[in-house]
Amino acid sequence: MLLQQFVMDALTRLNKQAMTNNVNFDVIGTIDSPYKEKFAIPRQPGIVSAAQGKVILNGSANSMDAVRGLEQFSHIWLLFVFHGTQDLGWKPLVRPPRLGGNKKLGVFATRSTFRPNPIGMSVVKLDKIEQQGTQVILHINELDLLDGTPIVDIKPYVPYADIIDHAQGGYAHQPPETNISVEFSDDAKTILAKVVSEYPTLQSLVEQVLKQDPRPAYKQKSIDERVYGMTLYDFNIQWQMVGASTLRVISINITKNKS
Ligand code: SAH
Repeated sequence: MLLQQFVMDALTRLNKQAMTNNVNFDVIGTIDSPYKEKFAIPRQPGIVSAAQGKVILNGSANSMDAVRGLEQFSHIWLLFVFHGTQDLGWKPLVRPPRLGGNKKLGVFATRSTFRPNPIGMSVVKLDKIEQQGTQVILHINELDLLDGTPIVDIKPYVPYADIIDHAQGGYAHQPPETNISVEFSDDAKTILAKVVSEYPTLQSLVEQVLKQDPRPAYKQKSIDERVYGMTLYDFNIQWQMVGASTLRVISINITKNKS
């Protein structure tokens, strides 16, 4: 009897441990974003106000009931999976770009994408909630998320609880600052003019993304003649530094996916 009780207790303990050491989440939505690759995505939401996207709800979360009342909030929290980097693992020490990429800090002291559980969180602006047939879509803005990012939860941003007046922001207290000005070649201007009705915010998006200087930290201090490329929506955008703080968009090409 005693042995039986002991075995039962041990099994209950093991079972509890198994339940608390592993959790399973269902993806409740997917992000539709102009950022088609990691390079040049801002490091936090809110920095690039022209970055519009959508949350496409999935499965049983795809229901107007599940979002009833959410329209009262101007901003929402998105909890998501860093699906673009989750297979690359993590290390306890990381080099935050804000510190020039040459100082190491503990992963939990950073917003690095390489984490033991690849979970990200972003506050984004909620523009509107729409139903298209059976599909519920949240239109969002100011996002910092890669296209196709899986969403695991959505919560309203509640100012009285989420704003902390005298909070200390450590090495990231102030938003990143650059003095980069962005200019466009005549070729790039022609393309922007051609697509302005379909992509009215493309020029602002390109400008705002490039103003934050997406180059690796070590390049920002050196003379850099390299031509960089990035993809926004269906456009491949090439640019180059033409002086210490002037960045020139050389060309904008529609990628082959676009018919
Ligand atoms: N606001 C979030 C994200 C910070 S890291 C947080 O604090 O948790 C921001 C970087 O995440 C961006 O520069 C972008 O390159 C990267 N990123 C965005 N979506 C991603 C995804 N689905 N997979 C991998 N990296 C992603």
